[in-house]
Amino acid sequence: MTTEYTKFKPYTRQSIKDSPQWSLLSIEQKDWIDVVSRVMPFRVNQYILDELIDWNNIPNDPIYRLTFPHQDMLKHDEYAELYDFIKNKDEDNANRLVQKIRMRMNPHPAGQMTHNVPSVNGKPLNGIQHKYRETVLFFPKAGQSCHAYCTFCFRWPQFVGMEELKFDAHDASELYEYLKIHKDVTDVLITGGDPMVMNSRALEAYIDTLLSPELEHIHNIRIGTKSVSYWPQRYVSDKDSDDLMRLFEKVVKAGKNLSIMGHYNHPREIKTDIAQKAVRRITSTGATLRIQAPVIKHINENPNDWAELWTTGVRLGAVPYYMFVERDTGPSHYFEMPLCKAYEIFQQAYKQISGLARTVRGPSMSAHPGKVVIDGITEIAGEKVFALQFLQARNANNVRKPFYAKFDENATWFDQLVPAFGQKKFFFEEDTSTSTSTSTSTSTFTTNERKIINLFNEVEVQS
Ligand SMILES: *Cc1c(COP(=O)(O)O)cnc(C)c1O
Ligand code: SF4
Repeated sequence: MTTEYTKFKPYTRQSIKDSPQWSLLSIEQKDWIDVVSRVMPFRVNQYILDELIDWNNIPNDPIYRLTFPHQDMLKHDEYAELYDFIKNKDEDNANRLVQKIRMRMNPHPAGQMTHNVPSVNGKPLNGIQHKYRETVLFFPKAGQSCHAYCTFCFRWPQFVGMEELKFDAHDASELYEYLKIHKDVTDVLITGGDPMVMNSRALEAYIDTLLSPELEHIHNIRIGTKSVSYWPQRYVSDKDSDDLMRLFEKVVKAGKNLSIMGHYNHPREIKTDIAQKAVRRITSTGATLRIQAPVIKHINENPNDWAELWTTGVRLGAVPYYMFVERDTGPSHYFEMPLCKAYEIFQQAYKQISGLARTVRGPSMSAHPGKVVIDGITEIAGEKVFALQFLQARNANNVRKPFYAKFDENATWFDQLVPAFGQKKFFFEEDTSTSTSTSTSTSTFTTNERKIINLFNEVEVQS
């Protein structure tokens, strides 16, 4: 289909009933939307409905799973109870139960340490995160939604308006102040939600700050975005698409690298005409486009899909970057995948592709001490182990040092792993020094601020 979408049109729980595709859903699937989207955010758009979802294959279609609620995203009894309240129009009890389920799902309960939020003159900075020396993350306020919501996304509390969990910046002035005194930072990653929901003028205001002469040490500006998949029209046919292209060119002319960190979960997202046009338009400005995504049960478990995604990307001029392991945050166990399975998917995909696509690294976990990649599963001295290393580390000295964890076929996250060979600690656990200047003592924060910070600690920046 080659419909021209002149205007972005999202659908939510209330309005999805008006979409042409509503009639293709079964009664049960309609109920799933009605019940589950009370708890988790739901948003799709006409382009996804028309061109990305294969309606002959629902509910198992990967893009359907990526964007539409499923009964199994709630616990069985929670679903049943909420279903009854809703059918009986008992709004009070429904709302109470929704709150309760959300609190249970709160992915990062208070009490963790607060390591990544920097401060200037003792004041914690909103919307800025700094974990690895060379890269600062920036969360502009106007970029805190997306063109559609991914069902696996850990950022759901902000999309459903749990206000206290918001974490964003109104303007770039604090970012500017922070960067001015941190000359070791070379990269700024603008992230969200999705910063590309901003119009070009709003985005330009943020980016212009980064082009100022005092920030010469910022060499690389990255934008994390899923728009390349969910709304490629952003780069082609939106009314300010040309302005956006000029903005990209301006960054490149200023002597900086502009990297669009494109979140693609499935090859179908890069195969439509408009998606390929978007890739061409982005790269024609001199910006680079990188491909990264988490590996997710029900969505991209097939290694061939990854190989096809990376291969297609390379052919169009994009660069495969990371495959992430997704921490199971919101939906209970719905997306959980054992690490050994994630590794197998990566290896089976990697073996099929050209060296040009082997720029991809993974599967990688963003854990407290750093980004840990699973290099392999092997046997050493009679013990089956995971071979691991840091691709990024809070303490840069730990990068690229091989280490080993006891093999565990059920482990789904780094914190479930224990050292191999009967050792008591991993090598980096001996290390008590903190490497970055960004550690801020817990007492600087209020309880709410701590909650906000914890939400964004040790989770992946996928877009
Ligand atoms: C992944 C990540 C980065 C960027 O790391 P690169 O390896 O340079 O892409 C920066 N900050 C945080 C918190 C991250 O998780
Ligand atoms: S993964 Fe990215 S695009 Fe998807 S809902 Fe989360 S922030 Fe938005």
